[in-house]
Amino acid sequence: MILLYMSEVSDVMNTEIVELNEQNIDIEKLMRAAKIIVNLGTVVLPTETVYGLGANALSSTAVKKIFLAKGRPSDNPLIVHVCSVDMMEDLLSEPLDLRAKKLIEAFWPGPLTLVFKRSDKVPVEVCANLDTVAIRMPDHPIALKLIELANVPIAAPSANVSGKPSPTMAEHVIQDMNGRVDMIISADRSRIGVESTVLDISSPKAVVLRPGGVTLEQLQEVLGNDGVMLDNMINGVVDKPRSPGMKYKHYAPNAPLQIVRGNKENILSYIKDKIEKASSAELIGVLCSDETQSEYQGAHVISIGSAHRLDQGASNLFAVLREFDQIGVDMIFAEAFAEDEMGLALMNRLKKAAGFNIVDV
Ligand code: AMP
Ligand code: MG
Repeated sequence: MILLYMSEVSDVMNTEIVELNEQNIDIEKLMRAAKIIVNLGTVVLPTETVYGLGANALSSTAVKKIFLAKGRPSDNPLIVHVCSVDMMEDLLSEPLDLRAKKLIEAFWPGPLTLVFKRSDKVPVEVCANLDTVAIRMPDHPIALKLIELANVPIAAPSANVSGKPSPTMAEHVIQDMNGRVDMIISADRSRIGVESTVLDISSPKAVVLRPGGVTLEQLQEVLGNDGVMLDNMINGVVDKPRSPGMKYKHYAPNAPLQIVRGNKENILSYIKDKIEKASSAELIGVLCSDETQSEYQGAHVISIGSAHRLDQGASNLFAVLREFDQIGVDMIFAEAFAEDEMGLALMNRLKKAAGFNIVDV
């Protein structure tokens, strides 16, 4: 049975907001956060990917509070965050093999989540009844220190209301989670700005279930070109999702979003035509790159940065989507970007935000 923990939580909790500087962490303040985790409460924490909504990963009671705060469907499993390799030993059903060791050596701490066969110590809520568990070690001094102080692994999905863009800035988290969690740690903007890459290594074939902060090209360097493949879902070839989270609506701005794909001239003329034909009461949003920003007149135009720096573009995307909500545009047209390196993760999030509404021009 799929329980829908929908957003019935009225904003009733008394949320403590604590500011921390990652260069100079106030350990006393962080101890308060660790105590909340130990006492089975919820803490929003900064990571290098996006802000996470954390709770003690070993406790069903604690983990259920995450689903409630986000309005997240119960069949969408969570990523468990650890601060050491030793900490995950209890969570796994078998010792790490050579492939896992290589990946950990190359990418941890960092934005790579690994899916392993799990032990029965993992609460069913964390893994949504699957026989696997997803684990990563975040590359962020506050996140790592918090896990160390709490001395338990922390389950943490992105700290947004389910379906909304992931939070990359403290103000996004406060918009979404104030009144829904025990504590929010407010720190700098997330450095990577998109979620981790999820790589399933629970079977002989390593499969990317979600592109993210570690690119396919980087994984191929470690595993070889034939040692890793992309799940079909990533290309929008809808099949049975291997990762339950893949089937849900994600990252959606309030206004409908359409991706426009093709050569540059055709993209420009398609979007310009849409702006021209819009009624005077309609505000069109355009999501584009620095290189084309000046081409569009009569619309609210936001660039994600240079088309040649899609790592920065990926890092800006969620904030840009939230900005369109704030402006209150009626329709958004987004230029399609190249789908290699970090462009793969960027386009994956953009396609989901658009509900796969893509026009080829
Ligand atoms: P979020 O933390 O909200 O960014 O989502 C976590 C992602 O990890 C979702 O796409 C989940 O479906 C995926 N995930 C978590 N645990 C597993 C697992 N055991 N097997 C496959 N995917 C998982
Ligand atoms: Mg999420």
